[in-house]
Amino acid sequence: MPTDRPSDHTEFDTAREQLVDDLVARDRISDPAVIDALRAVPRHAFVPPAHRSAAYTDRPLPIGDEQTISAPHMVGIIAELLDLSAGDTVLEIGTGRGYHAAVTAELVGPANVYTIEYSEQLATTAREILESLGYGAISVAVGDGRNGWPEHAPYQAAYLTCATPHLPEPIVSQVTVGGTIVAPIGTHRQTLTHYQKREDGSLSQETYGPVRFVRLRG
Ligand code: SAH
Repeated sequence: MPTDRPSDHTEFDTAREQLVDDLVARDRISDPAVIDALRAVPRHAFVPPAHRSAAYTDRPLPIGDEQTISAPHMVGIIAELLDLSAGDTVLEIGTGRGYHAAVTAELVGPANVYTIEYSEQLATTAREILESLGYGAISVAVGDGRNGWPEHAPYQAAYLTCATPHLPEPIVSQVTVGGTIVAPIGTHRQTLTHYQKREDGSLSQETYGPVRFVRLRG
């Protein structure tokens, strides 16, 4: 059984270093700020106890409610595509247990991260975990992320951690001109897609290959 003894923390820290080193070696991530962010966030704290020993394998893991915690390489790739700077305000759709939000918080500051989760239970757990790790300034709302979070708009960046057949319009309208959106687009087959909002409100679009995310609910 996993425990919280200090010796375990050391093992987890070593495993995390190795995982991030491996992601860099495999050219999955290269932005120094993103590398540091992945090194900083203790993914094991977001993984349910039953799967915690696998926290530093580079794959999605179950978090209950048929949902998953994203694989570290995917979190890193999305962070790089969003091209975040300290102080940017960021909207996340699909909090899960909060791992990806914490990585984003390392890049822009916790008070600039707004995240929406469909499941009340997952949102409650995410708030508890984030608070316990010092990310309590991240704002977590329960709701349907397809509506975005207009009260805190505009955002310099937004991303979805669940797949959608098409980008919800409210999210587009809540992002600034020049701002970026990254989302898995599709249903069974999904494509990681990067958008940038032009002056006239339209979007430029680039795709980054097939991905597999849980589907947007509601
Ligand atoms: N960001 C998480 C990934 C969680 S999986 C991480 O760091 O691991 C995707 C999440 O999207 C699930 O928790 C799911 O409940 C949530 N989700 C699905 N549909 C949603 C919707 N319409 N609005 C908000 N969240 C949604």
